[in-house]
Amino acid sequence: MATIFSKIVNGQIPCYKIAEDDRYFAFLDINPLVKGHTLVIPKEETDYIFDVDDDTLGGMLIFAKRVALAIEKVIPCKRIGVTVLGLEVPHAHIHLIPLNRESDINFSNERVKLTEEEYKQLVEDIRNNLV
Ligand code: 5GP
Repeated sequence: MATIFSKIVNGQIPCYKIAEDDRYFAFLDINPLVKGHTLVIPKEETDYIFDVDDDTLGGMLIFAKRVALAIEKVIPCKRIGVTVLGLEVPHAHIHLIPLNRESDINFSNERVKLTEEEYKQLVEDIRNNLV
């Protein structure tokens, strides 16, 4: 059965897409810790990130770098934090989280609420900064 993230890649479930190529996909987290919180996934389904083959894993970080550099042009932050949990969705993914302080990356924090309009604007701004 396809994971929820594969359904996002296939367009069966909507998302705010940031970037895509033949192997990877980046989209805004639906329940963001901070504005700009983004997920990067390989299109190929693997549950655990350290079961992803070396080539795909290496490419995922390079793809994430391009996305992170665009996010940091849009969201005022000191840097983009990178983390992997994978406790909720069994499809390997990297969280990219704009950080101003260490506690911004605490997954126990209350999530920020964005309006539809804010999400749309954010996606447009980040996409416009992709190199
Ligand atoms: P993890 O598996 O790393 O513990 O957490 C999964 C992350 O995926 C969470 O931050 C959650 O908000 C996000 N997420 C779960 N389902 C969806 C979804 O349907 N759409 C989007 N955009 N994000 C999701």
